[in-house]
Amino acid sequence: MAGEPQADCLFCKIVAGAVPATVVRETGTTIAFRDINPQAPTHVLVIPKAHYPDAASLAAAEPGIAADVLAEAGRVAADEKIEELGYRIVLNTGAGAGQTVFHAHAHVLGGRGLEWPPG
Ligand code: 5GP
Ligand code: ZN
Repeated sequence: MAGEPQADCLFCKIVAGAVPATVVRETGTTIAFRDINPQAPTHVLVIPKAHYPDAASLAAAEPGIAADVLAEAGRVAADEKIEELGYRIVLNTGAGAGQTVFHAHAHVLGGRGLEWPPG
């Protein structure tokens, strides 16, 4: 069923506590944890607890939870004090765009200058 945990999904395992992560924020619908391979001084992933394969499918099925993910991304940026310098919320969608984990997640990247356009 849509949104149900998937046995083969790494981020569902993090939600369940079966795989450890450095959690920085948690709400009823979301969890935020540090990326294992950080690409910037702050690199946090914000994910819905429900399983959807990407951000657009999450937003189509559960727009309120998609909004929760974005709001939490902003709170992470505030907690990490990266707002003044500017930060980026990235939603890689599809393998060709670099998505490797097919459970919706927002990257929050900041703490250094960020080039535009990204590669
Ligand atoms: P994607 O490439 O799908 O947009 O992002 C997946 C992210 O998950 C990558 O930045 C990768 O470093 C991160 N990642 C992969 N495995 C783990 C893990 O076991 N723990 C944590 N905290 N991050 C992970
Ligand atoms: Zn999942």
